[in-house]
Amino acid sequence: MDNESKNNVSEQELELINKYSRKELGADDVYTFSVVLCDNDVDRDNEHFSDSALDTLAKMFIGVTGIYDHDPSAKNQVARIYDCKTEFVDGKTTVYGTPYKRVTAKAYIPVCKSSEELIAMLDSGIKKEVSVGCGIAKCTCSICGEDMRIGACSHRKGKHYDGRFCCGVLDEPTDAYEWSFTAVPAQRRAGVVKSFTDEATFKRLCTDLESSGESEIADYIKSLRAKADEGERYRSVLRLETVKAGITAKIGIESALLESMVKGLSVDELLKLKGCFEKTADKRFPARMQTACEKDNSSRDIEAAKMKQYTI
Ligand SMILES: [Zn+2]
Repeated sequence: MDNESKNNVSEQELELINKYSRKELGADDVYTFSVVLCDNDVDRDNEHFSDSALDTLAKMFIGVTGIYDHDPSAKNQVARIYDCKTEFVDGKTTVYGTPYKRVTAKAYIPVCKSSEELIAMLDSGIKKEVSVGCGIAKCTCSICGEDMRIGACSHRKGKHYDGRFCCGVLDEPTDAYEWSFTAVPAQRRAGVVKSFTDEATFKRLCTDLESSGESEIADYIKSLRAKADEGERYRSVLRLETVKAGITAKIGIESALLESMVKGLSVDELLKLKGCFEKTADKRFPARMQTACEKDNSSRDIEAAKMKQYTI
């Protein structure tokens, strides 16, 4: 994304800008910048816009104002889109292998006292992360083409079917009603935050890093990811053991409720709770009673809990 100097605004651009301004603005009165509003790649919800939806959105976003939402007190600082188009990026493809296409907008901010700080920030080469709000009439399944909003097929977004990735294809935009942008430091790669939410984008991030000569960083991220997975598996096992300890201690809470109660607990909290349950069980039941209780219905509950955990 480029930041253009306020002095580089062409006559043609000024003409477009002045369509939206009450008073005639000159090159020194406006600061312009470019933003990528959306693209045809898969997002964190495992959905993506169709190419034709992007073409429609590019037309719809012209004239729409955006809010700078980094600081709530700066809500009056708005930028307006005066030009918007779709474009392909040479050599770049989406995670599902088609040419990458995006909606790029040009926006302006009137230069005045209250916008000074924001303009200085945009001018310093920072990137802009943008979120957009729009209405969409259709979301179809990428595998079979059925309407996913009404659950017309059994495919699930984010899963693979015979090697094909299933996602929702967003089509027929009805309205483009807002966009907001947050300024982030240039060195932070756009999309890093959301890339960890699904496997495909995580892999793409690693590939991007490797192809730009950052394979050490890619390896480091992969090792962190592996450690995080291990930690998560340990937490899963600990959750089951805590539920089992609670049932054994006969604390009077049924296993399903116990299961949902321990879901959000950290490893430390689980260890403490499990310890409490074990102490309670020790106090309440002598060793031979514990053997007896293993034979009752609660042992079936434990098995059920285990299966549920591992199928998630
Ligand atoms: Zn389907």
